[in-house]
Amino acid sequence: MISLLGKTEAELIEFAARLGEAAFRGRQIYQWIYARRALDFDQMTELSKPLREKLNQSATITETTIERVFYSADGTRRYLLRLGDGREAEAVFMPEDRRDTICISCQVGCAVGCKFCMTAQLGVKRNMTAGEIISQVVIVLNEVYGEGSETPHGTNLVFMGMGESFLNYQEVMQSIRVMADQKGLSISPKRVTVSTSGIVPRIYEFANEVVRPHLAISLSSTNEEQRNDLMPINRKYTLAELMKACREYPLDERERLTFEYVMLAEVNDSDEDARRLVRLLNGIRAKVNLIPHNPAPELPYKASPIERILAFQKILTDKDVPAFIRRPRGQDISAACGQLAARQQAQA
Ligand code: SAH
Ligand code: SF4
Repeated sequence: MISLLGKTEAELIEFAARLGEAAFRGRQIYQWIYARRALDFDQMTELSKPLREKLNQSATITETTIERVFYSADGTRRYLLRLGDGREAEAVFMPEDRRDTICISCQVGCAVGCKFCMTAQLGVKRNMTAGEIISQVVIVLNEVYGEGSETPHGTNLVFMGMGESFLNYQEVMQSIRVMADQKGLSISPKRVTVSTSGIVPRIYEFANEVVRPHLAISLSSTNEEQRNDLMPINRKYTLAELMKACREYPLDERERLTFEYVMLAEVNDSDEDARRLVRLLNGIRAKVNLIPHNPAPELPYKASPIERILAFQKILTDKDVPAFIRRPRGQDISAACGQLAARQQAQA
């Protein structure tokens, strides 16, 4: 059965034509799916009953369903989703004062194997399709705001759930292009952030994209040896190559490249580490997000104490490197950064 979510307007017009329907029917279906976030053909009341029946027999809108929702005391929601083939994926909703954020997955599991990340422990099961990636956004928006209703201030979207975006490059970029369409979901690429552990060739490719969201680099270490250990991707694409790609990255006016740095107690959080980070970022219009490590029983690290994180931050800001401390969200429901492992239970 084919899934329509993920298809462009042109593709839906073609789909309608194959059913013997005029182009405007394809456009109507497109409107219902993306602008009104309908997930059921029977909601499409402008379509005749026989056509709706034909649609029900030949296609589905999405096969993704909600398995469970976990609600955190801080307002964060974790969505355990079931994909068409029975695999599980996760998305997280975070309410914010100015604009809510949805964190989505792009792969089932992850192959990169970072030692501080729970997703790594799953290995990679498979890539998600553009349609599956988009289904997370539609399902979360409908669950939070009500089916088809307006989102209060638009939404920020971050590819920081399960998976490495740049190891599923085509589907991730396709999903971003489809979501950007102003006639549809209308999620501006300006509000989208893609995060990568450092797949260097894809950074160069991404730099040349016409529809290009914001880029974040997960750094978490300032020297080759330690990064080889913490993030094995470094053995394939070294820190030196990664930083070269970052220096050559064509930032828009006023844009900054974001660097994420997970703070692991007594591993990468010393004053010396902070000073090395300043030197490494020299010449790059950068912004640093310090992420307190979110621990899990299966992970070998402890979170840096807040005084250490503050001291580290001060070394950066004193040298004019903007640095922010990421507030942990949804820890009580295993929804925080690096905690996603498709768990049926919440285990803080
Ligand atoms: N695979 C992508 C995006 C998903 S991870 C990437 O690695 O960039 C999103 C962020 O969470 C990354 O910056 C990652 O370094 C961080 N992270 C992973 N495990 C974490 C943990 N246990 N605690 C805090 N942050 C973690
Ligand atoms: Fe994969 Fe990102 Fe986790 Fe590393 S931190 S294992 S790249 S999801």
